[in-house]
Formats: sequence, structure tokens, C-alpha cells
Amino acid sequence: MSVPSDIEIAQAAKLRPITDVAKEIGLGPDDLDLYGKYKAKVSLELAERPAKGKLVLVTAINPTAAGEGKTTTSVGLAQAFRKLGKNAVLCIREPSLGPVFGVKGGAAGGGYSQVLPMDDINLHFTGDFHAISSAHALLAAMLDNHLQQGNALNIDPRRITWPRTIDMNDRALRKVVIGLGGPAEGVVREERFVIIPASEVMAILALATSFDDLEQRLGNIIVGSTYGADRKPIYARDLNAQGAMAMLLKDAIRPNLVQTLEGGPAFVHAGPFGNIAHGCNSILATRAGLAVGDIVVTEAGFGSDLGAEKFFDIKCRFGGLKPDAAVLVATIRALKMNGGAKKTELAKEDLDALKKGVVNLEHHIANVRQFGMELVVALNRFHTDTDAEIAMVTEAAKKAGARMALSEVFAKGGEGGIAVANEVLDILAKGGSKFAPIYDAKLPIKQKIDTIVKKVYGGDGAEYSAKAERAIAYLESIGLGETPVCMAKTQYSLSDDATKLGRPTGFKVTVNDVYPVAGAGFIVAQCGEIMTMPGLPKVPAAEKMRVLKDGSITGLF
Ligand code: ADP
Ligand code: MG
Repeated sequence: MSVPSDIEIAQAAKLRPITDVAKEIGLGPDDLDLYGKYKAKVSLELAERPAKGKLVLVTAINPTAAGEGKTTTSVGLAQAFRKLGKNAVLCIREPSLGPVFGVKGGAAGGGYSQVLPMDDINLHFTGDFHAISSAHALLAAMLDNHLQQGNALNIDPRRITWPRTIDMNDRALRKVVIGLGGPAEGVVREERFVIIPASEVMAILALATSFDDLEQRLGNIIVGSTYGADRKPIYARDLNAQGAMAMLLKDAIRPNLVQTLEGGPAFVHAGPFGNIAHGCNSILATRAGLAVGDIVVTEAGFGSDLGAEKFFDIKCRFGGLKPDAAVLVATIRALKMNGGAKKTELAKEDLDALKKGVVNLEHHIANVRQFGMELVVALNRFHTDTDAEIAMVTEAAKKAGARMALSEVFAKGGEGGIAVANEVLDILAKGGSKFAPIYDAKLPIKQKIDTIVKKVYGGDGAEYSAKAERAIAYLESIGLGETPVCMAKTQYSLSDDATKLGRPTGFKVTVNDVYPVAGAGFIVAQCGEIMTMPGLPKVPAAEKMRVLKDGSITGLF
């Protein structure tokens, strides 16, 4: 069955006024701030109401570069629950502009499982990313101005860690020099840019539990350190920047309400990276969802080794959230790739590769379970999947003692997600899960990292570069030894080596740097090179985009 392009499906959809969608979850005019007919921000007070809903996490096996359909499955599952008469709310991240113009592929779902208005959501939406960019830029400007005005805080310009940010894939900005031109033009120093999902302000907005908490966290950002051997950390609050930064975020902090292709409520809010940050939508949106919905479907980035681990150990910990069930998305093409099939041959039946690759699924099933979670494997069906391949995955899930259901939400919308939805409902009816994080945040940094590598990745522990050793000692000396650890590693492998597919064993992860993201409240353990400013490909998707005479967009997915 051939499915029209995402944008064709989105443009053919008849949208409901957002006020109607809001009414369905008990929200009236006082709860909403309208951004046109189809988008609204909800009042922050919503997130303070008691939770009544059950929380369902959508995660996945190790993905291929194209993504395996977590967002699509999340949207489709929320649609399926609504078809079954349940009051379901979807909570997902906001997409970044950078990837929109790079390689084809949005972040608003796909096929008949999308959030709308898809073009707005992928472009400027309600301006959250612009606000985050401004708040980030303000701190950068105040910091460089402090150097210019005499540097009373004794900041070492060579030890400044606060980067600049822009929502565009632009590799020429990875390393730049600023302040050229003489004494009136600022202090010369090396600078770098990161894309907005990598901005600490994004992670903070996603983890803040109230407006006051937001301001407090912004004040806790470490921008660099002083001259001298003691390297005293310099905080945003030392520059008195947090108040104005929070002011710039006063609207961005409120969750955005939009709708699914089938007219159900969807909160789309915040978009931190899944590698150097925790990769989930905002705590406030999830809480708002839990206050108004009976079932909340939410997504965490990449595979369960990265996204789900951070969802559980960072987001749930900070937000006091107790997930009730998990959906583990698997695709036959990614399992074949994990079994050694070539990227270009994933559309062909290959039972040998699949047989070798299902070990990856088995690992992720065990991983999600060890957090106390009950789960269902959702096999995201592609039209190239053969019956023999589907049978093989079904058998593997059965052998692992896991529930499995086919998900056909891409081709069929909510109707195609009913089998998965019924499995989730059965899990909920039987009492849900007994969630607990995998490590105690109070443990020493290395012990936390070790626990993650051994339990979550299936490795033998971690090795540390001399730089990482020094960084850990420094972080513990400045009081950051007892925060959760955000692991930054490749999403393609359970290990830190993107070429080790399937279920690698006998490996150690190499931590080459550890740095504070003190405002967000975690430290990052970096394993390998992580790109925080992507570049554009040879032929950017942007070349095909334009607005037609009737105002509609073409070329955007
Ligand atoms: P993730 O959230 O895991 O990164 P997405 O849901 O964004 O993945 O899907 C990645 C891409 O794959 C999107 O372009 C989406 O439209 C497409 N896709 C997802 N599921 C299917 C499917 N079953 N058949 C065809 N394309 C799909
Ligand atoms: Mg996604």
C-alpha cells in the first residue's frame, strides 16, 4: 500500500479549532493563550494540578540513521487510545530547524500518525526556540561584556565554557574567534556555536518544574571559571543574568497544545538533544498531560540505552514521575542492520541477518524491564517487511517472554495502533509497573557511570582519559558529585563504538571528558566525539522548499 508524503497527508487534513481540542480535555478559554486557530499555550498552573493519568513511555531498539519510528508510534498510539474511547494525551518534543533543511525527515511523526499543523511545528511554531536562543544569547553577551568592563570576577577567557547558539546546521560556526578589532570591540577569544537542542537553556526549560525553579536553574549555569589553580566556577547568577533570562522564557516555559492528525490533544514542548542532554519533552508538559488525560503517551530519544535510561534516571527523578508502562519500538530493517545487513539492502528479505540482529531486541527488552517496567514490543511495520520476517521477530519476543503487537500506524493511523494499545491497556489493568531508577544519584560519579555501562549497555565498565579523571575530581570538589549522569555516546550501538552492532559483549566504554550542566542539574560523561553543531549535506533539503501562490508549502518533507 502506498502512503502519500507526510506533507500531502498533513495538508489534506481538516484541522479542528484548538479550542475544541482543549475542551475535550476540560480546558476552557482561561486555560489557553491562543496562537492562531490551531496552536495554544496552556497555563502553567495546569502542571501543578494533581496527576490523574497513567504514563506510557515509548522507546526503541538501536536505530538506523533514519530513525525507527518512535515519534510516529507515539502519535499513532495516542490516536489508537482515542479510537478506543480513552482520554489520551500525547507529549513529544519540538523539532529543531537545523535538521529540517539538512536531510529529509521531520520530527512530527509520519504517514497517518502526525501532529498538526506540521509545517508550523517544524518551522517557528510558537517561538519557543527563538526565546531560548535569546535567553542563551543574553548570557553570552553579558559574559563577554563582563570581560570588556574590567572582569571583576577574574574570569579566565580561555576557560569559558558557555558557547553561543543558533538554530541552524552551520558547520562554519563550530569554532570561531570573536572580539577582533581592538580595545573597543571586546576581548578576543575563541568561541564555538552549538545548535539550540544542545543549549543548556533547552535542557533547563525541559527539566524545570515551575517558573521559580526555571530561574533558579538558570542562575546555576556554570559559564566558565576563574584564573588560577583553584579554578573557581563562575555561575550565571554571578553575572546577575538569571532574572532577565527567565523573563525571556516566560511564555516559552508554558506547554504548547496542538492536535494529532485524528484531532486528539498533543503537547509538543521543548526539544533537548538525546546525547549531550536527556532527550525528552518538558516535565511541565508531561505533568500538564497527566493532569488532564487518563493516559499520557510520551517519547524519549534514540534507543532505550540512551533515551529511556535518561528518561528514567533524569526526567522521572527530577519530575517525580512514575511511568506505568513502556512501548519498545522495533523495526525489521534496524534488526537486520544490527545483524550485519548493509544499509542499502534493508528493504530485501534477509532472515539470516534478522536472526543475528534480534539479540539487540532481546537486550532492550531486558534493559527496560530492569527499571521495573512492564512493556510491549511494537513492531513498526514497513511495507517491505515479509511475513517470514515478522514471524521471526514475533518468535524472538515470545522467547524473551515479552508481549508483542504489530504497529501499522504509519499506513493506517490510530486504527493501526489498536493492537499495541490493547496490550498497554492490559498492562495498566494488571497494575502497571514498579518503576525505580537504576542508580542512586548520591554514589560517586565513576560508580554511577559503571552501573550504567554494566547494567544498561551490557559492557564491562568504563575507562577514563586523563582529562576525564581530572574533570571528575574537579566536579566532585565543586559539589557536583551527587547529580545524575547524562551519558553522551553513539546511538547506533549499545557500546561507544558505532560499528559494534547487535548485542556486543566484553567491551569497555571510554569516557574522554566529563563536564557540568549544572543548571539542568546533571553532568555529562562524553564517550567519543559528539556533534553539537551539525553541518548541511551536499544537497540540502532546503533547495527544494518554497511557498506556492496559494500559500501552501512544498518540499518540506
Ligand atoms: P524516531 O522518532 O524514532 O526518530 P520517527 O517516528 O520520526 O522516528 O520516524 C522516522 C522516519 O521514518 C519518519 O520520516 C517517518 O515518517 C518514517 N517512518 C516511521 N515509521 C514508518 C513506517 N512504518 N513506514 C514508513 N516510514 C516510516
Ligand atoms: Mg522522534
